[in-house]
Amino acid sequence: MTGLDHLLERRRGVLGRNAPLFYDRPVHLVRGSGVWVEDADGRRYLDAYNNVPHVGHCHPHVVQAVARQAATLNLHTRYLDGVVVDYAERLTARFADSLDTAVLTCSGSESNELALRMARFATGRRGLIVSDFSYHGNTATLASLTTCFPVVEEFPASARAVRVPDPRHDGAGLTEAELLERYLGEVAEAVRSLEASGDGVGAILIDSFFANEGLPDAVAGYVAGAVELVRAAGGLFICDEVQAGFGRTGDALWGHELAGVTPDLVTLGKPMGNGHPIAGVVAGNELVSAFQSAATYFNTFGGNPVSAAAGAAVLDVLDEEGLQANAHRVGAHLREGLAKLAARHEPLGDIRGRGLFVGVEIEHDGVPDAARTAWLVNAMRDRGVLLSRIGRHDNVLKIRPPLVFATEHADRLLDALDDALDGVPDRASDGTGPW
Ligand code: PMP
Repeated sequence: MTGLDHLLERRRGVLGRNAPLFYDRPVHLVRGSGVWVEDADGRRYLDAYNNVPHVGHCHPHVVQAVARQAATLNLHTRYLDGVVVDYAERLTARFADSLDTAVLTCSGSESNELALRMARFATGRRGLIVSDFSYHGNTATLASLTTCFPVVEEFPASARAVRVPDPRHDGAGLTEAELLERYLGEVAEAVRSLEASGDGVGAILIDSFFANEGLPDAVAGYVAGAVELVRAAGGLFICDEVQAGFGRTGDALWGHELAGVTPDLVTLGKPMGNGHPIAGVVAGNELVSAFQSAATYFNTFGGNPVSAAAGAAVLDVLDEEGLQANAHRVGAHLREGLAKLAARHEPLGDIRGRGLFVGVEIEHDGVPDAARTAWLVNAMRDRGVLLSRIGRHDNVLKIRPPLVFATEHADRLLDALDDALDGVPDRASDGTGPW
């Protein structure tokens, strides 16, 4: 038995047989730096997938900030602490004026759960609207709202799932305006039905970039239109920025800026501490303070001094290294290269996304091909490039690297993909695949 097989067997025994793992044959990573990770055999992989090490694996500035604060003071969050106040001021300064207050947590799930509690409290309404292919976290409430993979909880009677416009798959024969009308009609129907049920509309919870939905180029005006309908019914807009936030899209710091709507509550997570578990809800002071006066909310670890130091160091690096602009530039270069590959390789379909969050549909005769997508993800790993897949049809290659990804890294990815596509099995699949 190899060392990897032995570790795998121990993992199954102690972490559960079905604890998720990427790849048919897992990668055992032991260290990372910038956009590179290395496995236990000393093999290097280009990381084109991980958004948690947002400013690069083990960025020295973040590592030093964490180490310095860990060597100075770390404790729970009910003492007066300047590090967290400094950080929260710097963070909220990056939002519209109405979003001036932060409550820090340890995960995207905790943030979304708290935002739901705040929205329900502020509106006095229970009803929720989510997209019909979404994930916002692993608490009991959020698991029940999950629509993009199996969960054991029932979808709540007080929620409605609406379809996000996907012009590429749903738009045949329809103009953008017709598509928009059709999907905003679904939101209007959800609002009507929640009002009729007596629950009313407390909030719409969506990722304005629709990452887990597979990055459909949601028709312009959809988010703004949906939020308008919800607000007219007295509900709030909770914008999940766990995936789109902190400059990943290249064109804006936050996904909701691209949609042209200021949320009532924003939830943050993954990239915020470059791997350190810091997350949060950003909202208006009145809303947050009213909730705090009615409900005691404290989070033992959320916003502890070490987490706050990690968050502040991420903001430093984003600014000093101009990483949002880098995401814009390198993302454009990558999409251009992918378009060139698509001209030569039949399986490459629609190429979409913004900045360094890129999706590429894999198809067979224009039909989504999940099996070939899975094959390509494994083939890219064999060629030393880590990426993954997403979407309703599980056929969108998901490219979402640390933001220090440079054009030379994009070129390397493109060369590996070109080579992998030369060997992709040439047959239609039923989506289950033998691979
Ligand atoms: N929101 C979105 C959009 C996510 O993709 C995720 C996790 N992938 C979460 C929330 C939950 O974040 P966490 O795993 O930190 O709880």
